[in-house]
Amino acid sequence: MDSIEKDILSERLEPSPGVLYVVGTPIGNLGDLSPRAISLLKQVSYIACEDTRHSGQMLKKIGAKTPVLSFYEHNTNNRLPQLIELLKNGQSLALISDAGLPGISDPGERLVSAVRKQGHQVICIPGPCAATTALVSSGLPTRRFCFEGFLPSKNKERKKILKEISLETRTTILYEAPHRLIQLLQELGEFCGEERPLQVARELTKIHEQYVGPTIGAAIQHFSKNKPIGECTLVLGGATEELEPQLSQVELIEEMKALIKNGFPASQAARVLAQKTGLRKRDLYNLLHEVNI
Ligand code: SAM
Repeated sequence: MDSIEKDILSERLEPSPGVLYVVGTPIGNLGDLSPRAISLLKQVSYIACEDTRHSGQMLKKIGAKTPVLSFYEHNTNNRLPQLIELLKNGQSLALISDAGLPGISDPGERLVSAVRKQGHQVICIPGPCAATTALVSSGLPTRRFCFEGFLPSKNKERKKILKEISLETRTTILYEAPHRLIQLLQELGEFCGEERPLQVARELTKIHEQYVGPTIGAAIQHFSKNKPIGECTLVLGGATEELEPQLSQVELIEEMKALIKNGFPASQAARVLAQKTGLRKRDLYNLLHEVNI
């Protein structure tokens, strides 16, 4: 144990028996694992982790020989009582996920809730989280923000949330896998308008860290030419008052009619007006068809 670890342990007498420690681990750069986290991971009785092989590599690098127990979505029902039993018996337990903060789009929420219900203490050893890391360097408003994580895959639920996001005035943070990024960007473009501010934070804390923006449209263009690779977090600007419809239905139809007269196909006319007003392209297109154009 080096001197900083000794100082940390003597400061707080960690770990204490019967306590669950929720420990943040790096999202790419091992240097982001805090000395307090290292010290704790070496000292607790057990570590619960999503993937024992994945976390095993990190634990080996820091010289932690603590026994690990797998804890993931599909073994939660069996594992929960076992982990609570360990705490009851006076053992200390650390919970880590594959990367970042457990409980944020990762297993943890149910364990923390169950442990608290049993009257045990839960202490978080804070660490990196892709959501807040992407937010603070996006240049988008940080005073008020909301987190959506991964959108549901079921069509109806997904559309409902996309609609809510399009009306949300706070900055919204989303997670997405690289192979589904373009689809999500296109959906966001359809619901929010392609002019809406957006930054896609790629490979945070890693050598090829990159931000792609400044709008949904610009990100679509970039990723159509450059295949999305690596982890990405999306930071979407909130709806602003200027984006709210300023025109009446009659005026909207007149504007689209004028565009069509100038040679735009109907869908293109709806798209242009959607970008100008922040309204949904599909709603404008339907409006055109209601008046039989
Ligand atoms: N618990 C983690 C946290 O605190 O950020 C999130 C886990 S979630 C299963 C994984 C998602 O987080 C990825 O699909 C990606 O959207 C985001 N993510 C994780 N690491 C990232 C990184 N280095 N750069 C950008 N996004 C990242």
